[in-house]
Amino acid sequence: MFPAAVSVTSLDDMIDMTRALADTPGAADRVFLNSAGSSLPPTPVLDEVVGHLRREAAIGGYEAAGERADDLEAGYGVFAELLGCRPDQIAFTDSATRSWFAAFDAVPLTAGDRVLVGEVEYAGNAIPLLMRAEAVGATVEVVPSDADGTFSADALDAMLDERVKLVSVVHVPTNGGVVADVRRISDAAHAAGALVLLDACQAVGQLAVDAGALDVDILTGTGRKWLRGPRGTGFLAVRDRAAAVLKPKAADLHGATWTGTETYELRTDARVYELWECDIASRLGLITAARYLLDLGQEAVEETVTARAAHLRAGLSEIPGVTLHDLGARKSGLVTFSVADRSAEEVKAGLAAQDVAVSVSARSSTYLDMSRRGLTQIVRASPHYFVTEKQLDKAVAEVALLAR
Ligand SMILES: *Cc1c(COP(=O)(O)O)cnc(C)c1O
Repeated sequence: MFPAAVSVTSLDDMIDMTRALADTPGAADRVFLNSAGSSLPPTPVLDEVVGHLRREAAIGGYEAAGERADDLEAGYGVFAELLGCRPDQIAFTDSATRSWFAAFDAVPLTAGDRVLVGEVEYAGNAIPLLMRAEAVGATVEVVPSDADGTFSADALDAMLDERVKLVSVVHVPTNGGVVADVRRISDAAHAAGALVLLDACQAVGQLAVDAGALDVDILTGTGRKWLRGPRGTGFLAVRDRAAAVLKPKAADLHGATWTGTETYELRTDARVYELWECDIASRLGLITAARYLLDLGQEAVEETVTARAAHLRAGLSEIPGVTLHDLGARKSGLVTFSVADRSAEEVKAGLAAQDVAVSVSARSSTYLDMSRRGLTQIVRASPHYFVTEKQLDKAVAEVALLAR
């Protein structure tokens, strides 16, 4: 049951908030503003995971997986629907980074090749990019942002040539609300013959993301953030343009078949990037999370999350001493700010003491963007649709107390 004080509906809500809150017991006790970190899974996801673990303990892991074979197979169709691609283009992994590694390692790169990244590139992508460039003699070059802080497609146009093999784009960065104009970037990259790898980790689950409409070749994402799935889950989509040229670096007996003393056959679908062993309970939970989102409707979620974040920004902008840091004309559900004379860690701790959960984004996660803006640490608040406006107002009031 929920305290009567929690307002559960407002006229313009596109989401059934009564159901959303009933399925999210943790949201009743706290103002949870960390869905960009690891969200609160809805009850059906939790029940699926725990139920399967109990079943494994009762009858054995292989037997329990066998009982759910059809549901596991159906998961590829669920993600195909979610991401606007075909089931054979989907692979499941244990994190967005694992998905990114698997696909990136398969992109052919040789000496003299160029890879272009945006200023908000994520450290977990940038480091392997730099390592690989170092190993093969390729270069990693940064596409500057526009004056408004978004990935500059005009600058990209000027940098593209036939040596560019890959453009790595972050849909929504880990450190702010800015949203990249992905389709414009894809069109430019493809005209120059480059592949587009989209890190949609902070986008899927808060924005409607369609790999086909965006025309990206590879898309990576995680389960635990906006999708509200279990930790230790991730997904990958590899579309045809990429599948035709990618060379998987390694495959196991699930990704390939050992056919003779010196021969093997690779799978031809995206599951070549999976390993045989996985956490079946979490996989089932991830599929349930995706079904839950499809049931709510991605457009409704996007509209609601965007409105929640705008409400929070509006409240924070009125507090003397608070500086908002989100860039771009189009802003999503990540709200970043600083409080004068308080470190981001102090703000996080002060809010946690009042049951308001936020996180801190450090320079090292998005080194280029933070360095350019002279930022070392910022507070990140990421409200999902299940956070009510009343709760957002409480968060604003608590920030105001800290700012005094
Ligand atoms: C969190 C994050 C990742 C990494 O996701 P994992 O599931 O932790 O591997 C990648 N890119 C961005 C933009 C992120 O915010």
